[in-house]
Amino acid sequence: MNFKICSIGELLVEFLAKEQNQRFDQTGEFIGPFPSGAPAIFADQVAKLGVPVVFFSCVGKDTFGKMCVNRLKQDGVITDGITFHNKANTGSAFVSYRNFNERDFIFNIPNSACGLLSFNHINENLLKDCTHLHVMGSSLYSFRAIDAVRKALDIIKRKGGTISFDPNLRKEMFNIQEMEQSFGYIMEYTDIFLPSESEVNYFADNNNENEQETIIKLLQKGIKHIVVKCGVKGATYYGYDEQNTIKKIHVDSFTTQSIDPTGAGDCFSATFVSLMLAGFSVEKALQYANASGALAVSQKGPMEGTSTLTELERFIFNSKVN
Ligand code: ATP
Ligand code: MG
Repeated sequence: MNFKICSIGELLVEFLAKEQNQRFDQTGEFIGPFPSGAPAIFADQVAKLGVPVVFFSCVGKDTFGKMCVNRLKQDGVITDGITFHNKANTGSAFVSYRNFNERDFIFNIPNSACGLLSFNHINENLLKDCTHLHVMGSSLYSFRAIDAVRKALDIIKRKGGTISFDPNLRKEMFNIQEMEQSFGYIMEYTDIFLPSESEVNYFADNNNENEQETIIKLLQKGIKHIVVKCGVKGATYYGYDEQNTIKKIHVDSFTTQSIDPTGAGDCFSATFVSLMLAGFSVEKALQYANASGALAVSQKGPMEGTSTLTELERFIFNSKVN
C-alpha cells in the first residue's frame, strides 16, 4: 500500500433508544454502549479494508474509553494518536429514531474528553507517512479541535497529500459557531467532498441554486471529486473527464433491510476514499461504497456494520441493486 490515511475527532460511546419515537424526557430503555464517533467509524472502516490509518482523539481514563480504543485496535486502526485523559470522561451520545430518516441525538462531546483534543495531540511522527486526511464536519466542534485538524491538514498538504471532507451536519450541533466558520476554510483545501443530498444546499451561494448548480460552482472552485450520498437511492459522483468537461455518474444502492442508518455515510465515505486512493475506477469505488453503506445499515450499532474487502465482494456478488 503506497498511501496512509489520517482521521481526527470524536471517539465516544453511543446508546440507542430501544423503541421508535422513544422520548428523551421520559424514562425508557437504551442499548449500548456501542463504540462510535463519525471519524472513528470512518477509521474503522478504512482499517477493515486493509488500508493503514492513524486516528487522533481523546478519551477518558474510564472503561468506555478503553472499550472504544480496544475495538479500533482490534480492527487494525493505529491508535497511538489517542490520548487517555484523566481530566474528563469519554464522550457519549444518545440516539432515538423518529422514523426511517429522522433521528434525535443528545451529544456529550465538547465537554467530554473529546473536547480536550488540541494542537499538541497531533504528533508529527505519527503523520510522517500519511498521504491523506479525512475531515468530518462534526469533528470541528471547538477551537481546540479545529486547531488540531488544521495542524494535520497543513502537514499533509505541505507534503503534497490530499484531503476529503464530509460535512456530516447534525441539527444538534448548529449552535456551535466555530464549526460553521471552519467549513469555508476546510473546503478551500478539499479534494474529495462527500456531502449527503440534504447537505448540498448548505454550500450554495443562495437559496435559488439547485444541487447541480451548487456542485458545478464547487468544482470550478477547485474541488476535484464530489460524491453526493443519497441514502436508499445510492450515490452520485461529479468530477472532470479527460476532456476536462464535467461528468456525472450515478450508481444505485443495494437492497438491504435497514436496521440502523447511523454510520452508513461514514462507512460509505471511508470505502469510497480508500478505493479511489487505491486506484479503483469511480464506478467501482461507488459500487463498493454503496455496498459498504448497505452493510452498515443492516447492523444495529454505528460501528458494527464495517466490512472487509472480501465481505464487500461477497455482498456485491450475492446482491441485487435497488
Ligand atoms: P449519516 O446520516 O450517517 O451522516 P449520510 O447522509 O452521510 O449518513 P446516507 O446517504 O444516509 O449517508 O448513506 C450513505 C450510503 O449508504 C448511501 O449512499 C447508500 O449507498 C447506503 N445506504 C444508506 N441507506 C441505505 C439503505 N436503506 N439501503 C441501502 N443502502 C443504503
Ligand atoms: Mg454523514
